[in-house]
Amino acid sequence: MVDFIGIRRVQELVGDLGPAAFIAGLAREIEADYRRWAEFEKSPRHATHSSVGVIELMPACDGRQYAFKYVNGHPKNTARGLLTVTAFGMLADVDTGYPIVLSEMTLTTALRTAATSAVAARWMARANSRVMALIGNGSQAEFQAIAFHAMQGVRELRLYDVDPAATDKLEDNLAALALPGLRIVRCRSTAEAVQGADIVTTVTADKCNATILTPGMVVPGMHLNAVGGDCPGKTELHAGILLRSDARVVVEFEPQSRIEGEIQQLSADFPVTELTEVVTGRKPGRAGDAEVTVFDSVGFALQDFSALRYLHRLHRQRRGTRAAIDLIPDLEDPKDLFSLLGAPVRPRALPVAELTA
Ligand code: NAD
Repeated sequence: MVDFIGIRRVQELVGDLGPAAFIAGLAREIEADYRRWAEFEKSPRHATHSSVGVIELMPACDGRQYAFKYVNGHPKNTARGLLTVTAFGMLADVDTGYPIVLSEMTLTTALRTAATSAVAARWMARANSRVMALIGNGSQAEFQAIAFHAMQGVRELRLYDVDPAATDKLEDNLAALALPGLRIVRCRSTAEAVQGADIVTTVTADKCNATILTPGMVVPGMHLNAVGGDCPGKTELHAGILLRSDARVVVEFEPQSRIEGEIQQLSADFPVTELTEVVTGRKPGRAGDAEVTVFDSVGFALQDFSALRYLHRLHRQRRGTRAAIDLIPDLEDPKDLFSLLGAPVRPRALPVAELTA
């Protein structure tokens, strides 16, 4: 049997710890895996594009375990009552090739993306950052808010979305969470939201080269957490921001980010730092209080590997509904796969008309 983690089990596990503690634990797991970067077999994800979205496969392997995630990104889906991003994934044992766990990853992707953003910000944002603008108030927004409140000490969130209903939803959800000391400010434009912000998180969805942030909106010392631009032809930052002489750009995995990140707008030799270099102390995440730091996030398979292992460990440790599914045959004689179909049966003789139909 293969362990199965469905949406209800993730709800149970997150509810058990509380979302902030869950994200903080996941962030520790992700950072620990980024520290052992060299152990992983890595590749840019395999993306299949259409005019309205993308479907991607994301594998990662550390020689002992192998993980993959199936994920889509369809910005127009919400108009049809569907999510922009959905996902599921699997962790397998390299020794036997057998799957260990099959898991939902739609909720898990939002949790791991927020955890990764917070890991990057801890190394890149000014330590006294307390005000964050959150541009794009859709599915990922609450997770980002929780992570930055818990891990970065953000105490003012400045919200903006072109869809006021998305901001209504985010405000309601944040009010219900009652995050201690958090002030919510609703803004009428991106320009208004970024006023006085130490950190700007962009998590919008549109399959185009959008210009959510322009150079005039960015001031020295800001940290930009650019999450929404994550495939070719889908960006959020004006290239002039990345080209500032005081800007430092950190990416998750350079070969993939050159294709999918904000840096797809720049030449292939534009200098970037990988997150692993920052968390292992080989390069600084920020060199001084006046630098503009940009975490150009697209989402990398290593984060899903970490998330699957973290979830599976909790699934095994914590009480509650532990499901497993019969995905892989369990045979007495591994060469007798046919035995799964039961006692041998004589094929039914088909009438000639059926055979030629
Ligand atoms: P969503 O569709 O639920 O929300 C996106 C929101 O952005 C919507 O409310 C929309 O109205 C708003 N928006 C669009 N254009 C805007 C603009 N010009 N200004 C302000 N708001 C605008 O999508 P989601 O699930 O929250 O995902 C958001 C984005 O993040 C997607 O593009 C997705 O692909 C990306 N994403 C990235 C990662 C990563 O690891 N980097 C992970 C998950 C999702």
